[in-house]
Amino acid sequence: MQFIDLKAQYAGIQDKIQKRFNDVMEHGMYIMGPEISELEKELANYVGCKHAIGCANGTDALMIAMETLGIGKDDEVISTPFTFFATGETIALKGAKLVFADIDPDTYNIDVEKIEEKITSKTKAIIPVSLYGQMPDMDKIMELAKKHGLSVIEDAAQSFGAEMRGKKSCSVATISTTSFFPAKPLGCYGDGGALFTNDESLAKKISEIRNHGQSKRYTHTSLGYNSRLDTLQAAILLEKLAIFPKEVELRQEVAKRYDEAFMGKIKTTKVADGFKSVYAQYTIEVDNRDEFCEKMKADGIPTAVHYPVPIHHQPIFKDLGYANIDMPLADTASQRVCSLPMHPYMSVDDQMKVIDAVLKNIG
Ligand SMILES: *Cc1c(COP(=O)(O)O)cnc(C)c1O
Repeated sequence: MQFIDLKAQYAGIQDKIQKRFNDVMEHGMYIMGPEISELEKELANYVGCKHAIGCANGTDALMIAMETLGIGKDDEVISTPFTFFATGETIALKGAKLVFADIDPDTYNIDVEKIEEKITSKTKAIIPVSLYGQMPDMDKIMELAKKHGLSVIEDAAQSFGAEMRGKKSCSVATISTTSFFPAKPLGCYGDGGALFTNDESLAKKISEIRNHGQSKRYTHTSLGYNSRLDTLQAAILLEKLAIFPKEVELRQEVAKRYDEAFMGKIKTTKVADGFKSVYAQYTIEVDNRDEFCEKMKADGIPTAVHYPVPIHHQPIFKDLGYANIDMPLADTASQRVCSLPMHPYMSVDDQMKVIDAVLKNIG
């Protein structure tokens, strides 16, 4: 059994992908070809945001977002300790001080109620992460940001397609960033990413910064990156985006089967009222996790841990002076969470095997 079966998806769209691929090979515009702007339009349209700008990956998207908003040395950025390393990494690379707010132990997202007490005169931005495919309460975060004059970057690497009160992930923050890494809800066949904003001048700046700060060819109005999305990846994403809404619904069905099987027996990730997760991960909590994962493996079922070490305990963050940070809820989560196989094409048979093994192995 696969943790995420990407080949099952490919089998269904092989002909369309091959055609798109051939079109690119033949038109020859491998960098910034016509598929890029075609995809950007479709992405913006899908999430309901005015501008989408492709880039090389989700990590660069965070770098570009911070560069665009002028976040750097002497600035403080409030974020979560419980995320993939890239969120903390990029904040530290920009030279900003990462100020942690602990998580909500039911959704594993940043606890919105703990953000305001962390705001100081140096705070420049809040970077919430929509973990496991679910947005935090972005309405409340945006309200807080407005009150204090802060920018918000939604790290939506795991939540493309998610919803909050009818609004889609990537449509509400000052700038939102996502990743098209193959295993993300909307993935390509390599690295890829995108940024989203409703602000026209920010959109212009983002599209310049992702391409060496060029406002026109060989005229550089800012310092940027070589972080363009490949034309081939954009071509692939166009076909994947076409089937994505259907896949989001299939993900709901898989999650619902897990939810029903585990209800009252196992702590699963809570999806808040009015929110829709895209289940980048389906994550449960277990005692004695290492032992549990070993037993699952022996039963032929892959599991994964997202994430075993919170940002503030990473060796480099200790070196950077974050040694005495106390984030008890992130710590507990990092010791107890375990993600189960989850993808839109999971068979009921396979899912029953996972469910049986989980119930047997929780002891
Ligand atoms: C995957 C991920 C990223 C980085 O995306 P890449 O495309 O791999 O660079 C950033 N933040 C979070 C929360 C992620 O899950």
